[in-house]
Amino acid sequence: MKNPNIMPGTGKADASGLAPGLYIVATPIGNLGDLSPRAAAVLAGAAVIAAEDTRTTAKLLAHIGVKVPMIAYHDHVAEHVRPALVARAGQEAVALVSDAGTPLISDPGFKLVRDARAAGVRITTLPGPCAAIAALTLAGLPTDRFLFAGFLPAKAQARAEAIAELAGVRATLVFYESGPRLAATLTALGAALGERPAAVAREISKMFEETLTGTLAGLAADVEARPRRGEMVIIVAPPLPAPEADAATLDAALEAALAAGSLKTAVAEVSARLALPRAQVYARALAMRDAAG
Ligand code: SAM
Repeated sequence: MKNPNIMPGTGKADASGLAPGLYIVATPIGNLGDLSPRAAAVLAGAAVIAAEDTRTTAKLLAHIGVKVPMIAYHDHVAEHVRPALVARAGQEAVALVSDAGTPLISDPGFKLVRDARAAGVRITTLPGPCAAIAALTLAGLPTDRFLFAGFLPAKAQARAEAIAELAGVRATLVFYESGPRLAATLTALGAALGERPAAVAREISKMFEETLTGTLAGLAADVEARPRRGEMVIIVAPPLPAPEADAATLDAALEAALAAGSLKTAVAEVSARLALPRAQVYARALAMRDAAG
């Protein structure tokens, strides 16, 4: 990389134009045209590229006409690779890429960044494609607050437990999924979360890109009838606001919960169950406790 202008703020450059450090490089999730010029420049100028799958990254490098040495890197098999990469990043430019999208997001890299940071290595990120964010922009569901939940467990019981844990979260939920499991996952989500609006964004930026919208049950039926292939993101709307609980319902729920557990637990449980603000439930719980002496 001979044009340092594209790399403002990357420190003192060597002959390649890149300062030593670890460069987190986002790559396309489908359309190769989405590789940013800055990402291409860093890949071209790196001394070495740590790649989730070197065969996949070789295709990307061929696309931009670049030849750079690569090292296979995955968090789980990298105990012996990581210290050497961190040491190299202290001396020269090391780029990290995954097969697609932003490294570290349901992809390897977290431990490498953690260790590089601990070693005082300069870390630069090159923001770019991320399927979760792209799907959020397509779904037409609230984006002000979202929870990225990654892949749900494959086994039914573990999956049901993971979904139950998310049921009370007042945020749009984002899941990664693959074609073969899509119908089962939508069905499990519908069973646990009810009739929430949802979307499936599939093959984003590729030839067969498609976004399905509907309720969870409707989407499950649609996908059951016509299975979809490829890579997909499921987006689920936050819980619908429950009809406001009346004072008597709140008092009865609190009375039972306070008899069974601590004030803190009772408040958490009742505010989640009745979808009431925690502060309101807490104030009422204190008043009831004080009145009871
Ligand atoms: N690091 C990537 C990112 O930034 O999005 C995600 C990697 S994760 C191993 C792969 C999952 O991302 C797929 O199973 C799918 O859920 C989602 N995904 C990746 N590319 C996609 C695309 N083009 N369209 C829809 N979902 C995609």
